[in-house]
Amino acid sequence: MGTFIRSKKVRSVAEQSKTDLVQHEQIIKEALDSGFPRLRFPGILEAIYFESDLPVRLQRYLFLGWASLFIYDLFAIGDYLMLSDVYHLAWAIRLCVVSPLILGAIFLSYKKIFIPIIDYLIDFIIFIAAACIILMLFFSDHENSIHYYTGIFIIVIFGNIVMRLRFWHALSVSLLIQLLFTLTLDKVIPITSHSAFNVSLVLMTTIVISLIANYRMEKELRRVFLLNLLLQIDSIKLEESNKVFKMLSISDPLTGLSNRRYFDATLEREVKSALRKNHNLCLLFLDIDYFKLYNDTYGHQAGDVCIRKIADSLQQSLKRPRDMCARYGGEEFVVLLPDTDIQGATGMAETIRMTIEDMHLPHKASQISDYVTVSLGVSELLSGNADAINQLIENADKALYCAKNEGRNRVRRYSQNESQCPV
Ligand code: GH3
Ligand code: MG
Ligand code: MG
Repeated sequence: MGTFIRSKKVRSVAEQSKTDLVQHEQIIKEALDSGFPRLRFPGILEAIYFESDLPVRLQRYLFLGWASLFIYDLFAIGDYLMLSDVYHLAWAIRLCVVSPLILGAIFLSYKKIFIPIIDYLIDFIIFIAAACIILMLFFSDHENSIHYYTGIFIIVIFGNIVMRLRFWHALSVSLLIQLLFTLTLDKVIPITSHSAFNVSLVLMTTIVISLIANYRMEKELRRVFLLNLLLQIDSIKLEESNKVFKMLSISDPLTGLSNRRYFDATLEREVKSALRKNHNLCLLFLDIDYFKLYNDTYGHQAGDVCIRKIADSLQQSLKRPRDMCARYGGEEFVVLLPDTDIQGATGMAETIRMTIEDMHLPHKASQISDYVTVSLGVSELLSGNADAINQLIENADKALYCAKNEGRNRVRRYSQNESQCPV
């Protein structure tokens, strides 16, 4: 359950930030260049780092929480051997103060609401564990007590290097422990002020060394984090440009429709599928009437605009998801209609023709209308034909040829008697 809460929270933030990760590329590069000596990233980056580091940190805290509980309570043996005059009190402190605190922190680390304060809670426990040693020494008069402060060194190393508190937390806790230690040591154990000073110096050195290690580890983690973000950004960018390349390779730049290459691939796939399932498949060939004259009259650019309008209209006429249209070349288009019989396809072709005619795109040079018109040829897939694909295309082309010959601005369905087509 705890793991679920953690991963869910972190995933939501990670997903959210991934979408605009690319926008942060500059900030990430600048942060990397700056070397972030204060172990803090600018703005949103720090929040992303905090969230991504959180699950790893919680996992570590949880594991080490149990380990520290075991090791800390193992020192109850030490209490008995070293502070035999107050071992009951020492055991009470271990078992009734520090151990419940550790258990409490482990428990709270599973509760989402406490996650923001978990670092502070651990700081507090580490300080209390060190302070409790001073407290035990305060009550003990045993001669061994003068060696017992060494536990504090272990606690400092544990917090700074093993538990790996976040650097600023580690520094604060260490300073508090050092202060308490220096102010109280010669009062709780029989030790000369020179010895106390020397021991304080040793603790300070331990703290400095462990903090250097802590600082370097956090810095390295942060550096790896930034490098990973840049890698992620690179792969997002690569993915995007792959999508663009793919789009460009299958679409026609003028109209945005599929290009001939994509049409050929789709046609092959659909023909195979139709033959295998014994389904209908129809093909329309569409050609703009007197388009050379259109160009001659209105100019090539206006011709391009006209081609684009025809393409849009064609695209909008398609209703089924598997219907597809493509620019076949020049002012010629194709429409592929799977699961459609020849009557349905002819009806569809007629609708396309009428829709384009009703757009009333002026074409004063046309010899058959005042507006731009189109002619269409319709063919159907004939099964049992070894060369079904070529036959389908050829028949649609022949039907279109007939539509042109019969006067243009019309739909012609392919029939076996194309020889009757007027020339
Ligand atoms: P028909 O009614 O017999 O189809 O006559 P048509 O003039 O349309 O046919 P033809 O094949 O003689 O001319 C087609 C013209 O289409 C020639 C070419 O200038 C024009 N064309 C082809 N591709 C483009 C294009 O991408 N943009 C423009 N503006 N014109 C194009
Ligand atoms: Mg043509
Ligand atoms: Mg034409």
